[in-house]
Amino acid sequence: MICFWNRKFYAAACAVLLSVLLTLGVAASALPGESNPQPVHEDWDWDMDIDGFFDDWFEGGLYGDGWDDSAPGEDEAEEGQPDILYSRTPPSGGVPVRIRNDQVPTFPASTNTNIPSPNHYPLPKDTIDYVVSGDIEYTSPSGAVFKYRILGSGLRVETRHLRQIEKGPRNNAITSMSFNSSNDRYTYLMLKTEQRVPFSVTYRDTAFQIQFHYTTSAPNSANLSNNNRLFTKAVWEDQSKLTLTFANKHGFMGYRAYYDRTGNLIFRFNNPPKSIKDAVIAIDPGHGGKDPGALGTDRNWPERTINLAIAKKLEAELKKRGAKVTLMNNAGYEREQRAVRARKIEPHMLISIHANTAPSRSAAGTETYFHHPYSSRLAVNSSANVARAMATNNRRARQSHFGVTLLPEFLSVLVEVGFMTNQTEYRKLRDSRYHDRVAAAIANSIEGAIRTANTGEVSSGNRDLGPAPRLSGSDDVESTRPPQGNDTGQEETGPGTSDSPRITSISIEEDYYTVMVGERQEIRTTLRPSRASRSDITWSSSNDRVATVDSNGRVRGIREGTVTITARSRHDSSVRATCEVDVVREGYSDDTDPIEQIFFEYHTLEYSRGDEDQLFYGVEPRDAQDAAVVWTSSNSNIVSVDRNGNVRMRNRGTATIRVASAADSRIYDECTITVH
Ligand SMILES: [Zn+2]
Repeated sequence: MICFWNRKFYAAACAVLLSVLLTLGVAASALPGESNPQPVHEDWDWDMDIDGFFDDWFEGGLYGDGWDDSAPGEDEAEEGQPDILYSRTPPSGGVPVRIRNDQVPTFPASTNTNIPSPNHYPLPKDTIDYVVSGDIEYTSPSGAVFKYRILGSGLRVETRHLRQIEKGPRNNAITSMSFNSSNDRYTYLMLKTEQRVPFSVTYRDTAFQIQFHYTTSAPNSANLSNNNRLFTKAVWEDQSKLTLTFANKHGFMGYRAYYDRTGNLIFRFNNPPKSIKDAVIAIDPGHGGKDPGALGTDRNWPERTINLAIAKKLEAELKKRGAKVTLMNNAGYEREQRAVRARKIEPHMLISIHANTAPSRSAAGTETYFHHPYSSRLAVNSSANVARAMATNNRRARQSHFGVTLLPEFLSVLVEVGFMTNQTEYRKLRDSRYHDRVAAAIANSIEGAIRTANTGEVSSGNRDLGPAPRLSGSDDVESTRPPQGNDTGQEETGPGTSDSPRITSISIEEDYYTVMVGERQEIRTTLRPSRASRSDITWSSSNDRVATVDSNGRVRGIREGTVTITARSRHDSSVRATCEVDVVREGYSDDTDPIEQIFFEYHTLEYSRGDEDQLFYGVEPRDAQDAAVVWTSSNSNIVSVDRNGNVRMRNRGTATIRVASAADSRIYDECTITVH
């Protein structure tokens, strides 16, 4: 389970960029000029100790939140490339700074949250740039406070990763480019660069692009020989932008950029393994140690236990197929450390295993999350194949930003195997036969992704796993299911029959049943002694308005809810057994849950008269993302808003836009828009 913060604002990022840039110009002008460097603001703590910045990066809000763009499903992720800002010349009034930590995450300048963008990649330690804004403070939904500054390159980074320096980058020259593809594991690109300038990276299905800022001179383009496993061409444009064309679509498996000991900028790209036998796989069983993850109705099977059971099966399955596998220790490691630990394993792929929960008991199915678009094939495969293994529906691959999926250095997916809150699914999640099937399905998905990386042809890796095992906790115990007669072959003679022995014990075959509204489900029992008559059982429901039960143990769903069904001996009411029955609506549909929290991404926005835009909001819980909302404007003459959150700036002034839950108007958030 992962708490989720639904986001749809991503597409709006570009639209908002302009207004942020306007704001930025104002903020930058308040800073001292580069010719006279001095502390920018007293609250900017240059000497803050930043050991283990990942602890904060992954803390609370970030790891726990997620955003969900449109699910790419069976198709590849949509590219949705933003325009990359290119800074050729230093900003006027910018303060020179150096990136003081390794692999510092960057964020869009067009947002002010801790939500990463799949189009923003980390900057290596010692990159130099200019600060062009004051502190931008953001408080995550979990209460963590983050401070950022915008750099002249258009990237936003946390203030604590910056150190003020004397001189910023200007007129950089990249003087040489070379590739080393002799190593099976990696392809290296080495660039000699006079200054350690910032760069922005763009991944497309066909190419990997690096835009170097403040750069005015670049080496010659090159056609690459056949022994470069990843790229066919390296083309420079505008003396600053390098485009590396892939030899093989879908062949990209992540990269890491760093400065080597002699100061050369190195891009180290993963070569795809030739087969599963060459693959290095890290498996992260979600939760563990003191963190049980989600709790189910069976105290012996919290999420941690389910995740670990499946992870161990996956480890065994992958080893059997010849892969090099590391099962990450899930005891004693907090979740924010996991990506960092995975980085040390240097895998081709990181598979994180979780089980899902939802307020709606009818929610069922698999979901797989990825962050970088080159992980989408693995995510799509995993969601589809695990759904088949679990005999459930495929809720598909979704782009999000859970902590374990953020690093660009390898493929990574977070697989939500099924819902613990759905009793049918929870029983599968505790069944080792299903663990075997899920492990095989994930291993198949990995093999499919490897095949795709080597051939360019899309492969799901799906293999037939055979029919789903029948769900039963008591396959080895004979059922007393009527009306087949009793052990002596005599006909049933009705309640109270004198030649049946009295019941000494009753057990109900399943602990949990799911029945749909209006439908029936028979509760099966095992009696002792085996000759005892089922007709000596009296049945009762804890709530007849939710589900009724007849004298034959047939439950009928009346309306959504959960009841306890009790079977008692008619001769001795202390001889009894119970089970829970979930009554659900219309099968395993994705019900819309009520909104508990709603929030805008931006609480203040500025536009020019005549502008149009769409406002986006997040909700909790995530299953409420389709719940109805109501939009209102405090002054429609200044800003009007329609039912889809489209705003139109009609006149100069200030207006407040409110988005509220249609079901409960007390749940709302507001955004103040100033129109210039
Ligand atoms: Zn979880």
